[in-house]
Amino acid sequence: MTLCLGVDIGGSTARVAVVERETGRIVDSAKQSWTDRGLDAVVRGAASLIDGLVKVHPQVSGTVGVGFAAMLRGPVVVNAPNLGWRELDFGTPLSAAIGRPVRLVNDLSAAAWGEYAAGAAKGATDSLTVFVGTGVGSAIISNRALVAGASQVAGEFGHVKVSLEGGRRCGCGQHGCLEAYMGGAKLAEWMQEEGLAGGAVDLEPLVTSGDATAKRLYDFAVGHLALAIANQVTVLNPGVLVLGGGVLRRCPGMVERIRATVAQRATVASGAAVRVVLATLGDDSGLVGAALLS
Ligand SMILES: [Zn+2]
Repeated sequence: MTLCLGVDIGGSTARVAVVERETGRIVDSAKQSWTDRGLDAVVRGAASLIDGLVKVHPQVSGTVGVGFAAMLRGPVVVNAPNLGWRELDFGTPLSAAIGRPVRLVNDLSAAAWGEYAAGAAKGATDSLTVFVGTGVGSAIISNRALVAGASQVAGEFGHVKVSLEGGRRCGCGQHGCLEAYMGGAKLAEWMQEEGLAGGAVDLEPLVTSGDATAKRLYDFAVGHLALAIANQVTVLNPGVLVLGGGVLRRCPGMVERIRATVAQRATVASGAAVRVVLATLGDDSGLVGAALLS
């Protein structure tokens, strides 16, 4: 049995896990929240969690995989909206603090890899993973490898456009992105502007109760999400489509809409080949994936 270390850095917490490489099983884990989002504080927090677990499991293998909700370039965090970081080298000081090599990976890539290695997409050679939580993200596994792209930012699915020009402003600075309508944070903002109470996961119950405004927002946001996914299925021809994230997990109607749209609007051959499933590792898919990618 080989043990490896994975880290998941969120907006306000770090989680660290010791994972069995052969099975993806979490053997031990630790978690810490912080209020200081500065580079030094986050490095110190993550390093102390890692050191604590290494003391208990000294046989854990060398490199540490770190999943980060960010655009990355090697050890550098190019843009992490959750933490308000731009162009900060996180990997080098963390590696120095723990005395081990560190590999940063995008959180969605880590989640997709976790589901591929030990979850809902196990056994597949080609998968598309789409998560809707605070934002909208995806990752592509093609022929058993993560697709990185020419500048390592392939799969930024939240920023495909759903309007020909203009549209709502997205956190990335552009307008009309899918995430500006369907990401949990932006959808809640939009609901508030339209006089609807609650957050993104409250929209579906409002539609069920017959609220016309809720239905208009839902049809636009979920309709475009589902159509964009169906188009991705047409282009990529995945064997498995893995759906997850806090919003999709709690809104079964959205999952059904995606399933129906993929069946109706993807090409017949790609639609017939794809199995649509929910992520099975829950909040742990990114943590497990980061460890297994180390
Ligand atoms: Zn955007």
